[in-house]
Amino acid sequence: MVNFETMNEYQDFCLRTATVPMDEKTMHLTWSLALAGEVGELANRTKKVFLHGHPYDQEKVIEELGDILWYIAVYSHDIGVDLQEIAQKNITKLEKRYPDGFSSEASQNRIA
Ligand SMILES: [Mg+2]
Repeated sequence: MVNFETMNEYQDFCLRTATVPMDEKTMHLTWSLALAGEVGELANRTKKVFLHGHPYDQEKVIEELGDILWYIAVYSHDIGVDLQEIAQKNITKLEKRYPDGFSSEASQNRIA
């Protein structure tokens, strides 16, 4: 079993199972469409549980979230950004957007 301490180490492990280098256009298309596909798999699973009466399976949700995370890791790498930076920039954006934490009022009145 592979062990890692940080998200950047996780990202490095993901690269061991990523595909060969691609030209820029192919890379963006491959990773963004694959990421959308995995989000679609998660959405389809959610649809089946809440609209079709299938049993909820936590392990399947974890698996799909892991697939999504893998694509984020390799896509980030291929645009030259590590996962720590992706996470930090997202949190910085959310801190500006919701300095006191999320609220419906802040969401409706946000500028950025
Ligand atoms: Mg999947």
